[in-house]
Parts: sequence; C-alpha cells; structure tokens
Amino acid sequence: MIAVIGGGPVGCFSAFKLASKGEKVNVYEEHSSIGKPVQCTGLLTSEIYNVLKVDSKCVLNKLNRARLISPEGKFIELKLGKPNIVVDRELFDRQIASMASSAGAKLNLNSKFTGFSGLLEKDAMPKIAGFLEKKVMINGKPVEADYVIGADGPMSAVAKSAGLYGSRQLVIGAQARVKMKCDSDCFNTYFGVGIFSWLVPEGDNIARIGVVDTKNPNALLSKLLSKVAKGGKVLDKQGGLIPIYNPGQKLVKGNVLLVGDAATQVKAVSFGGIIPGLLAADALSKGISHYEDNCSNVKKELRLNLMMRIAMDKLSPKEYDDIISIISEGKAKTVLEQEDRDFPSKFIFKLIKSEPRLWKYGLKVIW
Ligand SMILES: Cc1cc2nc3c(=O)[nH]c(=O)nc-3n(C[C@H](O)[C@H](O)[C@H](O)COP(=O)(O)OP(=O)(O)OC[C@H]3O[C@@H](n4cnc5c(N)ncnc54)[C@H](O)[C@@H]3O)c2cc1C
Repeated sequence: MIAVIGGGPVGCFSAFKLASKGEKVNVYEEHSSIGKPVQCTGLLTSEIYNVLKVDSKCVLNKLNRARLISPEGKFIELKLGKPNIVVDRELFDRQIASMASSAGAKLNLNSKFTGFSGLLEKDAMPKIAGFLEKKVMINGKPVEADYVIGADGPMSAVAKSAGLYGSRQLVIGAQARVKMKCDSDCFNTYFGVGIFSWLVPEGDNIARIGVVDTKNPNALLSKLLSKVAKGGKVLDKQGGLIPIYNPGQKLVKGNVLLVGDAATQVKAVSFGGIIPGLLAADALSKGISHYEDNCSNVKKELRLNLMMRIAMDKLSPKEYDDIISIISEGKAKTVLEQEDRDFPSKFIFKLIKSEPRLWKYGLKVIW
C-alpha cells in the first residue's frame, strides 16, 4: 500500500503512474476539493504533451511568441518553435486526479497528514523493518502504508516529519488576473522587476501578471501593474510560495520519498514546477527503490537551471540590455526559439557556441 500525501498535480500523477502499474495507492489531500486554491499561472511548454495528454477543455490559450524585456525596456521577440499553453489549473489538476482514480487510486479529501507516530529514525535497521515501526497519521489517526510519497508542496510536512526538509529557500509568487486588452499570442518576461516577472495572456482580454521575489512581491506587483496594465481592472489576486531548487535535497529516507515542490523540483529560471515535478513522478513510478538514480536527468536539468539563475541574479540592467542586443543580432535567437526551456542541457552549449560573446555572462556563475 502506498500513501501519497498531497492531491496536487504531482501527487495525483504519481498516484496515476503507480496505480497503472498495479500498486494499491491512497492519495490524501487536506482540502475538500482538488485544484483549489489556484496559485499558479499555468504556463507550460509543449513538453507537457510528452508527459500526458492534456484535455482540450483545460487549455485556455496557445502562445506562439515570447518577448524578453530588459529593465531598460529593450526587448527581443522569439517565435516559439512549438507553442506554449496556458492551462486552467483547477481543471488541469482535476484531470490528473481523475486519471489517478480511473487507474484505481483512491482519493481521500479532507485528509491531512499530521505526522508519523512510533519510532522514526531507524536508518541502521533494514529499510522495511525501520519503516514498519512508524505509522502515517492522517487527521491524527494511523493509516496503512508501506511507502509514503510526500507530494505536499513547498512547505512539505512529510519532508519535515521525516527529517528530509533540508536547508531549502523559498520565494514568494504574487499574481493578478487583469481584464485588459492584450496580445493573446505572446507572453512577456520582464527582467528587473523582482527576481522574475511576467504577463501571460489567458486570451485577448485577460492577462495573468505576476512577480516572484524573496520579500514583498505585492509592492513589486503593484509597480508592474502600473507599468504594463494601465487602465486594466484587477479581477483577483493569488499568491504562493515556490521553493528554489536545492541540489543537495535528499529525495528518499527509508520508505519516505519526496516529489514535486515538496522535493524543491522547480526550474530556478522561470519558477515553473509542473513539468519537472511530473517528470520526477514518472521517474519515481519506474521503480521506487531506484528513484534517486532514475531522477538523475531531472536533477541535471534543475541544476543547470539553478546555475543560470545564479548568473542572471548577478546581471546589471546594462548587461541585460547587452544580452538582448547580442541575441537579437545572431544565431542565438534561433537556438532560443527552437529549444524547450525545460532542458537547458540541450541548448545552453548550442547557445554559447552560436554566440561566443555570451560566455562572459555564463561565467558569472562562478564570479
Ligand atoms: C504565483 C505562482 C505562479 C506559478 N506559475 C507556474 C507556471 O506558470 N508554470 C509552472 O509550471 N509552475 C508554476 N508555478 C509553480 C507550480 O504551481 C508548482 O510547481 C506546482 O503546483 C507543484 O505541484 P505539486 O503537486 O508538487 O504541489 P502543489 O501544487 O503545491 O500541491 C500540493 C498539495 O498537497 C496538499 N497538502 C499540503 N500539505 C498537506 C498535508 N499536510 N496533508 C495533505 N495534503 C497536503 C495541498 O493542499 C496541495 O493540494 C507557480 C507558482 C506560483 C506561486
């Protein structure tokens, strides 16, 4: 019996994959329904279609262009080789939950993981014996489980209870849905407002505008709104925590495994966590006992993402301007247009090879 804690996209996808292989799976979700509250923009690259078939009713918009805008307002527009999509996160989460149910997993709502009871630290003993002495508590009562998968988000109670939380850092995402006229085919990424900020159109008259920062993203969001959504009407606001990928994060301890935001599996460049979390869930389902090894590709891409973020955080506004000019001029633009940003290993060296002047910015990782 496998207990998956958290009925978000990654928990439900783990349950779907494991139940499809004949495992008995229980998903425990603390909320009374799947998919709420929504704390996400729902922007996904086309890689999502290699992971699962997204129901067309979840897809609000398809985007063929991306604009990268420097702090000084200089920009470059990329024609995406494959369109990105914007999903309705509530419907998307529900789709995956229903895939998990159809595969035989049981979804338990209003079911909060409240800790382990019994002896916890038995690392010296054989793994199964060590685990059998602890019990998974849901709403304060023990439930049956041979393995526990913590898919319970950035502040993972499972990670904390199992001693797997580590030294993770969290940033805050704040987003507004704004009624305004927008270019429905193109999303914008602004450098220089917070750590990362964006405008993603749901269609031609509603945009999702957001900022990620370590503190006070609401003030930055107001600043961004006054710049890019003048005259727009804020329909609602959302916010949430996002973990920064920790390359030292342990994924497994005894029979407890972490996946998704709970395991800090988020791209540090764009703070997108859905695709890496789903890919990690897929790796987990290929063999619980080989999860760390099976996850090595996901880890490699997340590590490269983190290195890119470290370099980006050191760039001055002038350097952002320079990079945008350099990319506009040469072959680097084509590389960025053709390659999915989920896999930096596939484009980072091509990018630097196509435009050697970018090397010095890459070196900021170490300087
Ligand atoms: C403002 C914002 C915008 C974002 N935009 C994007 C984007 O455009 N694209 C993208 O890829 N990513 C985006 N992200 C990140 C994305 O939302 C997460 O990476 C993704 O939701 C991770 O999925 P998950 O299933 O691991 O965790 P979550 O979606 O956090 O799901 C965890 C689930 O566990 C449940 N839970 C928590 N504690 C317990 C407990 N003790 N017991 C039982 N259940 C529990 C929660 O209720 C929740 O349902 C954004 C995040 C923010 C904050």
